Amino acid sequence: MQCPDCHHENLLGVNQCEACGLNIYDLLMDDVETKQLARFISDELELDKPSSSQPLLLYLPSLQTPIAIARRPSLAMGRKDPESTLLVDIDLTRFDAQALGVSRQHARLEANQMLPVLLDLNSYNGTFINGQQLTPNEPYELKSGDEIRLGSLIASLYFK
Ligand SMILES: [Zn+2]
Repeated sequence: MQCPDCHHENLLGVNQCEACGLNIYDLLMDDVETKQLARFISDELELDKPSSSQPLLLYLPSLQTPIAIARRPSLAMGRKDPESTLLVDIDLTRFDAQALGVSRQHARLEANQMLPVLLDLNSYNGTFINGQQLTPNEPYELKSGDEIRLGSLIASLYFK
């Protein structure tokens, strides 16, 4: 994760920049507010009541800007299929998800607890936290700064 402020290239799983010491969540959150990127929250989430806690920030290197995700008990991650009625809360279609091997219903994020939990939904290409493959349908607790990989799509999750 490259520090949004000093551009130091940090190791995986780092939550505070090793060079300047700044909190990466706070730096990413500044981006969300100043650049009005809350629009990246999907329509379903916008209809939801505002959460009392701070949103999760999903950072995709290709995007260079974080996606704010309202904290909810169950968030399906994958890509929307026009042929299917299955709901996807975090739709990764626009990040080249299909080419990167993301399944329609790839993983589920449970984010109502302080520490969010990630489950692989028996996806075709697997879900990984910091390079470790998850056993399907088993919950794994996340730490802020963890790298999440769905197939070959890489993102980092920050929260506080
Ligand atoms: Zn820094």
